Amino acid sequence: MFGGNIAVVGGSIAGCATALAALRGGAEKVTILERAADRLQERGVGVSLHRDRYAELEAAGYVDADMPWSPIDQRIWTMRDGESELGRAVGVQDAPFRAYSWGSLWSELRRRVPAEVEYRSGVGIAAVEEDAEGVTLDFTAGGRERFDVVIGADGYRSVVRDTMFPGLRPTYAGYLGWRGASPGAPECGSSDLVWTDLRTVVFPGGHCVIYRIPDGAGGMRVNWVLYTTPPEHLALPLNLQSPTSLPPGKLSTELDAFARDLVRKHFPPYWAECVLRTPREESFIQPIYDLEVPHYARGRLALAGDAATVARPHTGGGAVKALQDALILEQAWRAHDDWAAAGAAYDAGRTALGASMVDLGRTFGQAQVVDTPDWETMRTSDFDAWWKGQIGGPERNSGFGGHALQKDSLEKDGPEKDSLKKGS
Ligand SMILES: Cc1cc2nc3c(=O)[nH]c(=O)nc-3n(C[C@H](O)[C@H](O)[C@H](O)COP(=O)(O)OP(=O)(O)OC[C@H]3O[C@@H](n4cnc5c(N)ncnc54)[C@H](O)[C@@H]3O)c2cc1C
Repeated sequence: MFGGNIAVVGGSIAGCATALAALRGGAEKVTILERAADRLQERGVGVSLHRDRYAELEAAGYVDADMPWSPIDQRIWTMRDGESELGRAVGVQDAPFRAYSWGSLWSELRRRVPAEVEYRSGVGIAAVEEDAEGVTLDFTAGGRERFDVVIGADGYRSVVRDTMFPGLRPTYAGYLGWRGASPGAPECGSSDLVWTDLRTVVFPGGHCVIYRIPDGAGGMRVNWVLYTTPPEHLALPLNLQSPTSLPPGKLSTELDAFARDLVRKHFPPYWAECVLRTPREESFIQPIYDLEVPHYARGRLALAGDAATVARPHTGGGAVKALQDALILEQAWRAHDDWAAAGAAYDAGRTALGASMVDLGRTFGQAQVVDTPDWETMRTSDFDAWWKGQIGGPERNSGFGGHALQKDSLEKDGPEKDSLKKGS
């Protein structure tokens, strides 16, 4: 088992899980360096985890049944149908997911990071220098520190990745995600409203995913993400070619008005109300990017989560992939006596899978946003064929919601793998 003094850059979902993985794997000392000075609970909105992937991760000890969640059973693709409150179903799918607020998921992961891991908030990394003996990190506030191995869990703008693969950046997919979460839900006159149905409201040139998440105080919020290509005349206060986002409070009136007009025009009235009741200052924008790396680990550096792979969110598997990265890293760590072998095993276990998620995300994005079908004429049989054309095989193997953990890959490497086996 390899020990070592390890730094994890980034203390979000991938960072907390990876630190846990390194410690369980046998690292002597683990330090998380997180740029944000405050706690991260309030960041983001909803995140959904496929129930089968959740079960694997729970069995492996990375998530906890106590985290508040809201069940999703099916996904109803819905379009406006005159004044009908909930619209018309274009297609219906099984969608066994658990819906979380991002904050509770992060809090749970943070809680799981053992006390012997040092979590330093408000510590940004400006530069990474690797040599044959170790890695030196330069802090943005000044000062340097040396480690045996550094894991970049620093998201889509990763500074660790920049060092491993200079010039490799996420590529803008050509469209945006508008996001928000409204407190409570509007009154509904229809008895057909079922909150275990995730709604995907479709319109020409995009769609909007709507589902409920726990608000952390015993109530519910209505979480939504709307994907579409902004028209050329719309001024964007963003350079989309360089990875970026527009946080809450920064949405311009023009961008907000564009999205609201689209919602009023194309959404069934009830779902329009769910989105429109989110105030402008609480909505935000995440441009959609693709990113894959040639290697998850090289030399004394490794990547996890979005630092390694950004698959479009239509895959519904980014958080799952980040947690699985950690689990596979733990297994690789346990199985090898030196970092070179552990890193190589981790790389072999994750690089191709990451690329396949990115590929699936591109296919989904093309069909569901860039080149949408004629929803008006689509019937459920057309829908089924359209969906099958995207996943290309049985749904459980498609990667939608994340790929199942490979039983044999779990069994190959680790001597102490009982907890991993349970979920595979
Ligand atoms: C619109 C949208 C919807 C999504 N919905 C889902 C979903 O339903 N289900 C799902 O599974 N996934 C979803 N995802 C994907 C998921 O959110 C991400 O894959 C996941 O959160 C990645 O976590 P991470 O820890 O890798 O990155 P991040 O959460 O981005 O964390 C990176 C951390 O690194 C820190 N950091 C960055 N640079 C530095 C530095 N130089 N020094 C120190 N610290 C640094 C940052 O402050 C941050 O805390 C969605 C994504 C989007 C855009």
